[in-house]
Amino acid sequence: MFELSERLTKLPPYLFAEIDLMKKKKLSEGMKVIDLGIGDPDLPTPNHIVEAMKKAVEKVERQKYPSYEGMYEFRQAVSEFYMRRKKVKLDPEKEVISLIGSKEGIAHLPLAFLNPGDVVLVPDPGYPVYHAGTILAGGRPYHFPLKDENEFQPDFESIPDEIVKKAKIMFLNYPNNPTAAIIEKEKIKEAIDFCIDNKIILAHDAAYSEITFDDYKAPSFLEFDRAFEVTIEFNSLSKTYNMTGWRIGFACGNSEILRGLLKVKTNIDSGVFEAIQEAAIAALRGSDEVIEKNCKIFAERRDVLVKGLKEAGFEVKKPKGTFYVWCKVGMNSVEFVKMMLNKTGVLCTPGIGFGEYGEGYVRFALTKSVSEVEEAIKRIKEFAKTLSR
Ligand SMILES: *Cc1c(COP(=O)(O)O)cnc(C)c1O
Repeated sequence: MFELSERLTKLPPYLFAEIDLMKKKKLSEGMKVIDLGIGDPDLPTPNHIVEAMKKAVEKVERQKYPSYEGMYEFRQAVSEFYMRRKKVKLDPEKEVISLIGSKEGIAHLPLAFLNPGDVVLVPDPGYPVYHAGTILAGGRPYHFPLKDENEFQPDFESIPDEIVKKAKIMFLNYPNNPTAAIIEKEKIKEAIDFCIDNKIILAHDAAYSEITFDDYKAPSFLEFDRAFEVTIEFNSLSKTYNMTGWRIGFACGNSEILRGLLKVKTNIDSGVFEAIQEAAIAALRGSDEVIEKNCKIFAERRDVLVKGLKEAGFEVKKPKGTFYVWCKVGMNSVEFVKMMLNKTGVLCTPGIGFGEYGEGYVRFALTKSVSEVEEAIKRIKEFAKTLSR
């Protein structure tokens, strides 16, 4: 009786919902499923953060409507964090706003700057929200490929001039979900120049900025010359502190872009529960040891998974960041995932769910213990023998 809007029907069904159905079916059949599909860490939020929330929730003043842009102390804690970890100076007054998770900000940014028909440059494969946010704002996503031969980094030259002319926003994301690639400094400089030259907002999604391995530290795009002229950087407590369920993130960088996003948000939401912001302050000002501990755990799992996948005959690289492993399967990715789930109970995510250039790959998430990853590898090795390659 009620027809969905054209915008909504243009959106693909949310990939993870479909995969969840497949998994439920297997579970109901009594199979022991090892879910390396969804990117939600199994590790708990560190205790001092939970304790800060407990204390804050009892205070009456924290139970009121929060401010739209976030508590000043939260924004200050973000700027301390960026100074400490990235050597980037942020003015808490104008260059930081709170978000209800970075996904919220990413989805809303196009609403602030697009007119009908305007183009957004979206990495493919990529986090589906860049595409969805663009469609919901009446814009046109242009998918530029992240290719294996370019180490999954963008090639700006390959984007046609007439597309560049209509582009208002370009999304980038490093360390990258789903490919687990990192970006070279030269490429970041290129991105900034490209966006300055063409008056494009550079929207960098830095959700995995702290999840890095082997002495690699992911730079903030804001470290680079002239970045503040065009860059909004999205970041989040979700991955850094195992706080995916808490829903708190932030955007920082160019104050004009932040003001635009904030204007959208003041008309849609009413900020982040202040008790959660207090917990986030405790996280951002707390010891960085919890981050390092986290990375060590993911690195250990990564080593087990990458070694195992290689032994099973797959083509994989050892990632320097994120908690994903991007694996070439050389066949239809949905077929592969279904087949592997059916035969082994191990679940991963088909690359096609991240865009057409993700086809032929699958993504494994390192969100299960080493012993579970070992068990998954045991099953995958048996399964791989049955594949004709
Ligand atoms: C997890 C993730 C986010 C969103 O995280 P929030 O929980 O909404 O802060 C954003 N971008 C990428 C690439 C992610 O993987």
